[in-house]
Amino acid sequence: MLISDAALAPTPSLSVAPVMIACPDCATVQFMPEIKRGHLSCCTCHAPLQRKTGRSLDAALACSLGTLALLLPANLCLLLRVSKAGLVASSYLFSGVAVLWSHGWVFTAAAVAMQAVVFPLLRFSLLSAVLASIRFGRVGPWTGPAFRWCCHLDLWAMPDVFLLGFIIGYSRLAPFVPVEIGAGGWCLIGAALLTMLTRASHDRRETWRRIGQPATTASAERLDADPLGCPACDLVLPADAEGSRCPRCRLRIWRRRPGSLTNAFALVIAGFALYPIANAYPLSVITLAGAQTGHTLYSSVMRLVEANLWPLACVIFTTSIGIPLAKLVGLCWLFLSVRMKSRRHLVAKTRTFRLIDEIGRWSNADIFTLVVYMPLVQFGQLATVNLGQGAPALQALVIVTMLASGLFDQRLVWDPARRLA
Ligand SMILES: [Zn+2]
Ligand SMILES: [Zn+2]
Repeated sequence: MLISDAALAPTPSLSVAPVMIACPDCATVQFMPEIKRGHLSCCTCHAPLQRKTGRSLDAALACSLGTLALLLPANLCLLLRVSKAGLVASSYLFSGVAVLWSHGWVFTAAAVAMQAVVFPLLRFSLLSAVLASIRFGRVGPWTGPAFRWCCHLDLWAMPDVFLLGFIIGYSRLAPFVPVEIGAGGWCLIGAALLTMLTRASHDRRETWRRIGQPATTASAERLDADPLGCPACDLVLPADAEGSRCPRCRLRIWRRRPGSLTNAFALVIAGFALYPIANAYPLSVITLAGAQTGHTLYSSVMRLVEANLWPLACVIFTTSIGIPLAKLVGLCWLFLSVRMKSRRHLVAKTRTFRLIDEIGRWSNADIFTLVVYMPLVQFGQLATVNLGQGAPALQALVIVTMLASGLFDQRLVWDPARRLA
């Protein structure tokens, strides 16, 4: 394994107290100087290690607390209300989950409740506690594990994706019936925007630095020639620490995660099995005066095109049809690369993995649209909207692809080049 102290690029200012880290993408061990502005990239895979411009832990703490404050009313208050011909219907987040549950879609209801309610509350509570402990000098043994869980929940907490579903649901209804956005809807918009601002202003590397580095790992002299890296907090540890817990974040440390390729491959196979089901079966079933019509993903996109709602059609096509397939194909490319011990296009493969890991969650937007939309169209014999068999398949597809990229140890891609070196 390489130890480099020169290739971090670019280094705009200050090079005081460099910290040794292991790149989470390629496992290269390198010294990272402390900077005041600009950004640092890995000397091997060019993945961004730290961005300072526009980042502040105090701003991130303020945004995180603001998100937390808005999430509570967003979960409890009115999202949307429609009224036409004397009929009034309201949509709350919990009513969407309750309608799914009452129609027997238990898995989908539970997954939506976790992704839209439980995980965001948990993530922003943990992040606020961690940043407040740093701000007020109360860092303790709990801070590292709490921040690791907070980072882990980042992709699974989806107020921003729910906002996209909310906008699609609103845009589908607004041309046909008067729609009123309730207090919960405005709070949801605020919480989702603050979620994005928290991400944009939060400097993870600085947070780990402020949480502290245990004395056992502080210097290169104490490490042997083949050190380990913690994939969660990037701490560099001696080779004999394999199988033990990271002293900073308490994650169990392996040189490469055991069974990573097999587990991720099994999930991708499940993804390929779910993809045609999610596309062939209806996502929603509309009952109008006793007549049922099913709408698949493709037919929903075509209906939006016919209604001249091109931007919405593009968003749904990209998030629900394009992204899951791109993700499955991209992961297969990475698996093949590891199996064939390929040393070609390694930087492109790392970038592909980062993109795959980040964008997969947006495929949930169409499910969230139905959660917003369904409680508004429950008029008994007159008109109802229910989920079709395609919806849980799409939701399961999103979950298995997210789990697959989460379980895959991306450092494996760089191993053939490292062995050659
Ligand atoms: Zn790297
Ligand atoms: Zn760690």
